[in-house]
Amino acid sequence: MNKMLILVVEDDSSVRNLITTTLKAHDYHFLTASTGEAAILEVSSHNPDVVLMDLGLPDMDGVEVIKKIRTWSNLPIIVISARSEDTDKIEALDEGADDYLTKPFSVEELLARLRVTQRRLSTMENPMTVSCVFVNGKLKLDYAAGCVYLGERELHLTPIEYKLLCLLAKNVGKVLTHTYITQKIWGSSWGHDIASLRVFMATLRKKIESEPDSPQYIQTHIGVGYRMLRVEENERRDGSSGYS
Ligand code: CA
Repeated sequence: MNKMLILVVEDDSSVRNLITTTLKAHDYHFLTASTGEAAILEVSSHNPDVVLMDLGLPDMDGVEVIKKIRTWSNLPIIVISARSEDTDKIEALDEGADDYLTKPFSVEELLARLRVTQRRLSTMENPMTVSCVFVNGKLKLDYAAGCVYLGERELHLTPIEYKLLCLLAKNVGKVLTHTYITQKIWGSSWGHDIASLRVFMATLRKKIESEPDSPQYIQTHIGVGYRMLRVEENERRDGSSGYS
């Protein structure tokens, strides 16, 4: 697989150096920017594959930078935030960021997130994904027929469980916030009933996960939302699924 070109947007030189050293050691290509304005310029002129975006930038808020980039580009954006920026992180995901890392993060976490993104990119580039059947590990969704299978067995999902599963499947690899999911499933008038979402998620997991307490397909991001992971059969469980 070709190594991706990564734009590192970070004003703190020690964090930036940690990231670029890691990228260099793993043969990733990278560019750097230390302001929001420079980040926008780099994205428009070099079209990187992925952006690692710090939220606290000296000239503008990282969320604003994401909003601007999203007006013309769909490229994956991984937010890097400090714990104190938790609400900003959720806002960033709602504005179209794909994933996040919370400072301080380990090199392994960074690499795991990049692998998830790389897998997502290769799925997006694969013309097979426009077909009306979605396959992930043993899970198979036939959108045209409205059927879900786990291995050979057909699953009987309620309409809401089915909608929820389709939404996660169509965004495989991407963290979806509670607000985003509830709006897509119930519409904005329904409000943000996270408790109900949790109930539907629990019943859905009972049907699709062999061990609902250590889910393989749908990962929980506490206080943030959920993500469907790309599962390869017999794949070793990497670090990206260990923080739910
Ligand atoms: Ca910063």
